[in-house]
Amino acid sequence: FNVPKAVNEPVKTYAPGTPERAELKKQIEELRSQELDIPMFIGGQEIRTDNKKRIHPPHDINHTLGYYHQGDETHVHMAIDAALKAREKWAALSWEHRASIFLKAADLLAGPYRQVLNAATLLGQSKTAFQAEIDSACELADFLRFNVQYMTEIYSEQPASSPGVWNRLEYRPLEGFVFALTPFNFTAIAGNLQTSPAMMGNVTVWKPSKTAVYSAYFLMKLFQEAGVPDGVINLVFASGPVAADVVFNHPDFAGFHFTGSTGVFQNTWKTIGENIHKYKTYPRIVGETGGKDYILAHKSCDAAAVATAITRGAFEFQGQKCSAASRAYLPSSRWAEIRELVHEDLQHLKMGPPEDFSNFMTAVIDEASFDKLATFIDAAKDSPEAEIIEGGGYDKTEGYFIQPTIILTTNPRYITMEEELFGPVLTIYVYDDTKFEETMDILDSTSMYALTGAIFSQDRYIIDQATKRLVHSAGNFYINDKPTGAVVGQQPFGGSRGSGTNDKAGSKINLMRWVSPRTIKETF
Ligand code: GLU
Repeated sequence: FNVPKAVNEPVKTYAPGTPERAELKKQIEELRSQELDIPMFIGGQEIRTDNKKRIHPPHDINHTLGYYHQGDETHVHMAIDAALKAREKWAALSWEHRASIFLKAADLLAGPYRQVLNAATLLGQSKTAFQAEIDSACELADFLRFNVQYMTEIYSEQPASSPGVWNRLEYRPLEGFVFALTPFNFTAIAGNLQTSPAMMGNVTVWKPSKTAVYSAYFLMKLFQEAGVPDGVINLVFASGPVAADVVFNHPDFAGFHFTGSTGVFQNTWKTIGENIHKYKTYPRIVGETGGKDYILAHKSCDAAAVATAITRGAFEFQGQKCSAASRAYLPSSRWAEIRELVHEDLQHLKMGPPEDFSNFMTAVIDEASFDKLATFIDAAKDSPEAEIIEGGGYDKTEGYFIQPTIILTTNPRYITMEEELFGPVLTIYVYDDTKFEETMDILDSTSMYALTGAIFSQDRYIIDQATKRLVHSAGNFYINDKPTGAVVGQQPFGGSRGSGTNDKAGSKINLMRWVSPRTIKETF
């Protein structure tokens, strides 16, 4: 299997004076100066409706980026029909041709599409230039290239044979269509959730989050230019319940690829269960859901490393990462030092619109998210168990801005130690140094999630003890590093418990879910 060896796309810096900075600024200006008309893409056709919805940057709510055409159940049916029509030919296409299409998509993304997709992610989902670069350019190119490599590794895994008998595994695509329900927080994840099943020969119906339609449009253009045939990926904008009602009642529904909230995933699983007798085959259900990711520091930690992990882990990407650090357990003997360092870091951290490249943070995604965060911040202000020690301010006059906020609590099970808020709010519990083991027990039993976590210590025995004791508390466990920023091909990403099915985005484990192997035995 001779495919180009996957390497991670180098991250550009956007430092003053660099060509990428000038290109991105120009692209942002260009997109801001027009109002796009965004259709659905079904069977390669652009579909428009009378129901148009306005798109605005979360950090600049009075500016209009364009309108998208909202569909209804007819369009979801059309998308499924288009997918099923494309299925036979796509599934029969040799894997080399599927690989070339997605390798070309990665190259287009790293080249001519890089700045338009970065600008769309920056404007539509409020990300800084650097956040957009890591997400929509590098991570998605990495997903595409590494998955092509993993695909060939899967195809090359074959059973043993014996004289007179040749055994083979044929990695068939699923018998039906895959439904991809994609999130706002990563354009790369949105791009991965339909391309990974499609790469393995499946056809997909794709419904993006309504807050990420803008970048979804450019992704769809990219896929078309890369040569994804009509009907293989169908982009529909219908409300979640409308799409779900059609998809989960359809006999050809064969797979669900999801990143989003635990509640939606659990309800979907129930619906699929209730409808199970309607399907031709047991559907594959793959989901990455919530997180309540932790930083645990031992008294032997390097305080500066903990402080950096707190600032970057909790506040980069506005805290809107499933992996973001949102609870920290810090030893009392080191607390003053860590607090001072974090305070110092936060003094230099700028928040504002991402068009100004000196900002480190920008707005959260929408009003619902803003209101939820503001409610938890206000409750902490009033609680006898909590104190706001950094930030605590919020303002939605221009956009949905929430200050980086730290809540200090005396109760290790305080509500914000337990519930996912999905924003720039970190809660800290300071424990008595002598209660490290008890603190691990509390940590492990406090939240329903198990996505990411980090241990900070300079003592190898402590690191070993925490790694073992916290075995089920995180699908991605970091030693002396922040719990965010998994790189495709290096730290396969995913969690268990309430955080998902742990099928590791960007891995063979994930791609295997999109095939239904046939064992063939031939006797001579
Ligand atoms: N893979 C990302 C990280 O490691 C997080 C993805 C997510 O938020 O779902 O930070």
